[in-house]
Amino acid sequence: MLNSLRTIVQEVNAARDMKTALAIIVTRVKQVMHTQVCSVYLRDATGAYVLMATDGLNQTAVGAVRLAAGEGLVGRVVVREEPINLEHAEAHPNYQYFPETGEERYSSFLGVPIIHHRKVLGVLVVQQIEQRRFDEGEEAFLVTMSAQLAGVIAHAEATGVVVPAVGAKATQAKFVGVSGASGIAIGEAVVIAPSADLRAVPYQACADVDAEIAFFQQCLTSVREDIKSLGEQLKARINREEQALFDAYLAMLDDASLGGEVAGRIRKGAAAAYAWSEVIIEHENIFNSMSDPYLRERATDLRDLGRRVLAYLQASNQNARVYPDRTILIGEELTASMLGEIPQGKLAGLVSVLGSSNSHVAILARAMDIPTVMGVVDLPFKQLNGRSIIVDGYKGSVYSDPSPALRKQYKAIFLEEQALVKGLEALKHLPCQTIDKYRVPLFVNTGLMADVLRSLERGAEGVGLYRTEVPFLLRDRFPSEEEQRAIYREQLEAFAPHSVTMRTLDIGGDKALPYFPIEEDNPFLGWRGIRVTLDHPEIFLAQIRAMIKASEGLDNLRILLPMITNIQEVDASKALIKRVYKELLEEGYRVRLPAIGVMIEVPAAVYLAPELSRRVDFLSVGSNDLTQYLLAVDRNNAQVADLYQAFHPAVLRALQYIVYAAHDAGISVSICGELAGDPGAAVLLMAMGFDVLSMSATNLPKVKSVIRGITFAHAKRLLDEVMRMPNGDQIRQRIEQELRDTGLTRLIRPATSTDA
Ligand code: PEP
Ligand code: MG
Repeated sequence: MLNSLRTIVQEVNAARDMKTALAIIVTRVKQVMHTQVCSVYLRDATGAYVLMATDGLNQTAVGAVRLAAGEGLVGRVVVREEPINLEHAEAHPNYQYFPETGEERYSSFLGVPIIHHRKVLGVLVVQQIEQRRFDEGEEAFLVTMSAQLAGVIAHAEATGVVVPAVGAKATQAKFVGVSGASGIAIGEAVVIAPSADLRAVPYQACADVDAEIAFFQQCLTSVREDIKSLGEQLKARINREEQALFDAYLAMLDDASLGGEVAGRIRKGAAAAYAWSEVIIEHENIFNSMSDPYLRERATDLRDLGRRVLAYLQASNQNARVYPDRTILIGEELTASMLGEIPQGKLAGLVSVLGSSNSHVAILARAMDIPTVMGVVDLPFKQLNGRSIIVDGYKGSVYSDPSPALRKQYKAIFLEEQALVKGLEALKHLPCQTIDKYRVPLFVNTGLMADVLRSLERGAEGVGLYRTEVPFLLRDRFPSEEEQRAIYREQLEAFAPHSVTMRTLDIGGDKALPYFPIEEDNPFLGWRGIRVTLDHPEIFLAQIRAMIKASEGLDNLRILLPMITNIQEVDASKALIKRVYKELLEEGYRVRLPAIGVMIEVPAAVYLAPELSRRVDFLSVGSNDLTQYLLAVDRNNAQVADLYQAFHPAVLRALQYIVYAAHDAGISVSICGELAGDPGAAVLLMAMGFDVLSMSATNLPKVKSVIRGITFAHAKRLLDEVMRMPNGDQIRQRIEQELRDTGLTRLIRPATSTDA
């Protein structure tokens, strides 16, 4: 049985289109279960359940038989959301006869619902002439089959092969991914598809080896120039350091790397295009087989490069595209270099089928303030070119062909956002304080130099979290101590005399370096953050040396340790930091010992907060990870995104406890997760007593505006009220209502008010 299940699902998965998939389902299920009929009914756009495929009933009935929920036996399966197993179907009060089916001959009936994400997509039915009840095993088999097929059918529906309502045109569809960069974009889709298909290059021998190698080199030169000019085009928008990415691309083309390998194969007789595609595919397979998200990211870069070179080798020059004014760039795997292809000012939003919020392209998008949604796995991207698209970078959702009503709603939000940003510019030099003069400093989270520039423009009072892994991610090897020093100096100088909190390398989880693979079944519970760097003191020491050296004369450095779960990690890290500090003094550097803090982002650290507070100078809460670990919800998994509740009472109680623990020990506590950048949440966090709120530069003016519009006493009352509520949704609604009542509707995270 298990084998039959597996092979049927595999066959269905491999089907070209929905029609073929349904035909396979009905034929194979009928065969395996030895029944006389198998049929599939699917819900159409009007909500009716339509007979879509059958093996056993008359084919003329396909598309003609339609039942509303509750109607007939099929409709009853829908409303009950459980199987109906009858030995004599006609005797059932719900039985409804459709003469076109010819089903009067069949006595027994077993119908099971096809359910995906709590929605009944359809019903799978088997029927038999013989009057008997299907046995328990058969019923269980059909239920299992249906559960497996639900995902496949949902995907097929989402990818556009939906049950077509007769004469219907494109209707609004919603696709869910994860947020890559916040903001709203409304525009026209430009689907960026690779111009050359590496897997479709036929074998060809080469007649003249020298000429072929020369031709190959010439193509490489052209690609080098393209990549350099893409880098140039982005220069104004990203910093020199970030351009390391393009250098990494160029290095891959060298003789010592891919270039040399291909030349070798040409010498053995293969044509350049074939040799090139072979080498790229082999390397790509190696990266892919490592199953590490960041190595897969590297495979993406490799594929991108492979296609660029192949395009030249096949002399299929890339047609100059015309980009609409509000281009929403969509691709199966968007890469950082693709951004450079869009003329400045025309790129409104980004959508990538693959990738997560940590992909290079998402990191750049955040720095460039381009609303982005990643990992929209069900997106029928090939069919979207030229279509109207809304990108909701707050919620991580994408709408194609939005209805005029939804468009209007989002347009209003978009315009309000624009006006808001303009209006908020005036706040830049005003302090962040409540009406009754309670002051709470707003810091920023940075990673790229581009973030720093935006932060300064928006009046940030310091850096609450500099994610040092970002420059590490954009390279092909660990940056040297001197390279790190230069990068850190830039950050420290830009903000001096304000403080800059530098977090030591936080890799692992979903952030692995391409050149430092970590393979684990459960990476978020594995070798992450401080665990990695304490196991590799050479990495940790070089980073601390670079940080402290960079702070010479500025003295505005604070060091933050990620993923702390026990006291020993803090003691060991502090010992290493102090050792570096002493050595630097001995070497003649005039440096100060920086303040040392720990991140509270694991439940264990919450309960240890009192002890941790006695050992360090400050605490900083990473609410992104803390929420994921407290609620056991993967922060990057779109499937469970609904369960990732920032306002879950357990999260709020943990946050309040941490503040009390820090203040009892007389140290300061900040928060640097996304929560701090949510205007409603910021009010609560301030009331809880957080000494600093650190957020992305994009959110800073909004948070300042809401805090300047409320009294501390009022915020405290609101906090007391929501702390008694047992339900995260209820808390969120209460806060939104509060913002509305205070006339601050425009500061509510836009997409939360739009549920289409
Ligand atoms: C966090 O976990 O909240 C945090 C700020 O760190 P990161 O998002 O980099 O894991
Ligand atoms: Mg974290």
